[in-house]
Amino acid sequence: MQYREDRYGNKLSVLGFGCMRFTKKGNSIDIDKAEGEIMEAYHSGVNYYDTAYVYSGSEAAIGEIFERNQIRDKINIATKLPQYLISSRSALDRYFSEELKRLRTDRVDYYLMHHMTDIAQWERLKNLGIEEWIAEKKKSGQIRCIGFSYHGNTDNFLKILNDYDWDFCQIQYNYLDEVTQAGVAGLKAAAAKGIPVVIMEPLRGGKLVNMLPDGAKEAMKNSGRGWSYADWGLRWLYNQKEVTVVLSGMNSLDMVAENCRIADEAETGAFTPEDFATLEVVKQKIQEREKVGCTGCRYCMPCPRNVDIPGIFRCYNTMYTESKSQGRFQFAQTVGLTKEPAFATQCIQCGKCEQHCPQNIPIRQKLKEADRELRPLPYKIGINLVRKYMFRKTRKQA
Ligand code: SF4
Ligand code: SF4
Repeated sequence: MQYREDRYGNKLSVLGFGCMRFTKKGNSIDIDKAEGEIMEAYHSGVNYYDTAYVYSGSEAAIGEIFERNQIRDKINIATKLPQYLISSRSALDRYFSEELKRLRTDRVDYYLMHHMTDIAQWERLKNLGIEEWIAEKKKSGQIRCIGFSYHGNTDNFLKILNDYDWDFCQIQYNYLDEVTQAGVAGLKAAAAKGIPVVIMEPLRGGKLVNMLPDGAKEAMKNSGRGWSYADWGLRWLYNQKEVTVVLSGMNSLDMVAENCRIADEAETGAFTPEDFATLEVVKQKIQEREKVGCTGCRYCMPCPRNVDIPGIFRCYNTMYTESKSQGRFQFAQTVGLTKEPAFATQCIQCGKCEQHCPQNIPIRQKLKEADRELRPLPYKIGINLVRKYMFRKTRKQA
C-alpha cells in the first residue's frame, strides 16, 4: 500500500474503504461478509474508512467490526454530519453523539459536512453556530479534522473552499467527471491551499467497469497496457499528485484484492500521452451511448409521487449500453411491477428532485424521454395486464 499525507503529516492509505455499499442480508448489512472484506483491506494496509450518518446501518456495522477486531486505534474513521437535517445548534450535538455511539468510539478522525452543493448551506450552518461548535469539538479531541463532501458546481465549491479553514474535502471525480462538479479546477484549487482531497465515485458507481461500451473496452485492450477497466479508472486518479485518498465501495474479496493491487502499483505521473489518448476514446464511446449521466446516488429520492427516478434512468441507459430489450425487461421487473406504481407519468413537475441532483440532470425532461422509450404502447398494455393480474392475486391471498 502506498500512503499520502494529510494536512498534519498523518499518513493515509491512497485507497480508502467506502462503506456505503456493503452487501445486504435481508434488510440489514451482512456483517460477517463486511468484516471479511474490511479486515482483508486492513491487512493490506488500508487505514481510511468512510461512512455517513445516512448510510443505513453502516456506522453501526463498522463500529462493531473495528471493536471486535480491536483495530480502532490503528485506522481512521471518516463520517458525515447530515447538514441538510440540521435546524438548530442542539441538533449538531444530537447527531454527532449518535454517530459516536454507533461507531463505538470517542472521536471521529475526519468529519465532513455531508453533500454540500451550495454556499447557502454553509451560510445557514454558520448562522446556527457551526464554527464555534467545530472549534469546541476539535479542542476536546472529539473531531480531529474537519471537511466537507461536495456535489455542486465548481463556482460554489470554490466559495465554500475559500470561506473556512478546512482540513480536507471530498469530491466526486473520475475520468468522466473531469470538468463537472468541483472538477479538476476544484481539485487543483484545494491542493494549492494545502487541503487534501478525498475522491468519491472514482468509477462512477461501478459504471466505468460494468457498463463500458464495446468500443471503449476495445480501446483499453488495444492499448497494450494489460490493465483491467478498474485499473484505468483508478490509475488515472493516482496519476494526479493532488489526489490524497481514493474511496472505493468494495463489496467482495476479489474487489478488495484488485483495488489493493492497483493502489500498490500505481504511480503519480506515470500516465503517457498514449494512455491519455486511450481514455479520450473511451470517454467518447461512453458519451455516445449513455442517455442520462445518472450515477444512481439516490439523492433525488424520495419523490413525493413515488417515481423511481434512478431506477428508470438505469433501465433507460441499459437500453443503450446493453440492448433495448434488456433495458425494457429490467424496467418491467424493477419499476413496472412493483406494488406501488413508480412510473415517470406520475410526476407532477414539482422539481424537488432536480434541486438535489449532484449531476444537474434535467430530471423531469429526461423522465419523459425515458418513459416514451421504455414503455411503447405494447409494453404499456402488457405491463398493465400483468399488474392487474398481480394485484388481483394479492387481494385474493390477503
Ligand atoms: S419533479 Fe416529478 S420526479 Fe421530481 S420529485 Fe417532483 S414529482 Fe418526483
Ligand atoms: S437523478 Fe441525479 S440525484 Fe437521482 S440518482 Fe441520478 S444522479 Fe443521483
